[in-house]
Amino acid sequence: MVKKLLIITLAFMIALSMGTVSANVENIQYLKPNQGNKQYTVAEAPRPIKEEKASQRVINPNKPMIAITYDDGPSQYTSRILDILKENNSVATFFVLGQRVYNNEGILNRIIDEGSQIGNHTYNHKNLTTISDEELYRQVQGTDDLIRIATGYTPAVMRPPYGSTTGDLNKKIQRPVIKWSIDTRDWESRNVEMIKNSILDYVKDGDIILMHDMYDSTAEASKIVIPELINRGYQLVTINELVEYRDGILIAGEQYYNMYK
Ligand SMILES: [Zn+2]
Repeated sequence: MVKKLLIITLAFMIALSMGTVSANVENIQYLKPNQGNKQYTVAEAPRPIKEEKASQRVINPNKPMIAITYDDGPSQYTSRILDILKENNSVATFFVLGQRVYNNEGILNRIIDEGSQIGNHTYNHKNLTTISDEELYRQVQGTDDLIRIATGYTPAVMRPPYGSTTGDLNKKIQRPVIKWSIDTRDWESRNVEMIKNSILDYVKDGDIILMHDMYDSTAEASKIVIPELINRGYQLVTINELVEYRDGILIAGEQYYNMYK
């Protein structure tokens, strides 16, 4: 309960500091943070810091591997996608929004517990090239704080909404910025066949695939694509694993589109 209160208070303060109290954050009327105070501090996470689980999977560095990423969640479809990953002994990376942390603590913990990775996708999906440095800090640091309170895990990677950044902005984000090499445009087509083909017709070793765990069609496409990728000899790994097994390193302020050999 203390954790939930901490999450909703922080979410409220981040939203308030942007001048737009999020409609997604409910039942906050009884909380009265100092409206003039734009700063916030975060108490220690209420339980031990969680490291990513040591993988039960055996990754062969000589076999092809790809990282599937799901943005904008968690949503009602995320647990279905986690079920599919689990059935196929696979993992993915979920770039989550800070405003969706509240009431989704269970699913966020499941992502980590099952060996998948959580990345930061800002608080409420603003185009970061249009906002002040102060708001940028809250969008990114505030979301890290919310995820850490909910899970004990601090994201190692960040993805800007719309992939919209500049070299200068990447430096200010102060985290490795993860883009993609295959864009399924699942949000646009909402079509299982098109999503499937956008991956299976082009996929190659080292790809980073962009999807959104926000649509029924994306979950359905995942059900077909994930076993088929394994069938073709690909290992589905997290961003961190992809980098590690390609002997790469992630540098804060730099951006990455793939991990081709
Ligand atoms: Zn997004």
